[in-house]
Amino acid sequence: MKNDCIFCAIAAGEIPCFKIYEDDQTLAYLDINPFSEGHALVIPKTHAADISEIGEDALAALVVRVKRVAMHLKDALQCDGFNILQNNGEAAGQTVRHIHFHIVPRRKGEAVEFKSGKGDMKALEALAARVRM
Ligand code: 5GP
Ligand code: ZN
Repeated sequence: MKNDCIFCAIAAGEIPCFKIYEDDQTLAYLDINPFSEGHALVIPKTHAADISEIGEDALAALVVRVKRVAMHLKDALQCDGFNILQNNGEAAGQTVRHIHFHIVPRRKGEAVEFKSGKGDMKALEALAARVRM
């Protein structure tokens, strides 16, 4: 665990999250400022700042979890598609320096701006209960 890392604190249970999936290596939870309904983040529990720092085996395991969570969300939310995003470095828009994959559900005809909105905590809590794996 890295001091001052908000996602390490979430992984350690020190900061709450709207969890949708957890195993020994991985945690997935709803983004608090979603781009679209169901926007989720998948993180490794072990700290790595970005793709340059994570080991290949840990990355491979993480990507498999990203697929599982995405497939589950697509099914649970009946969305039409989704974007998977992963930012590396401030210049690329990475604001939290603990590697994470975004899963952004998409619906036909719905415009999505790829920037943080204002999360409704009650709605997120209800949604997490609905889509928890
Ligand atoms: P990045 O820009 O680093 O790729 O994405 C960071 C994401 O983390 C943003 O979409 C932001 O809304 C989300 N985020 C930042 N702090 C928290 C938090 O404390 N909890 C959750 N669930 N998401 C967070
Ligand atoms: Zn961290």
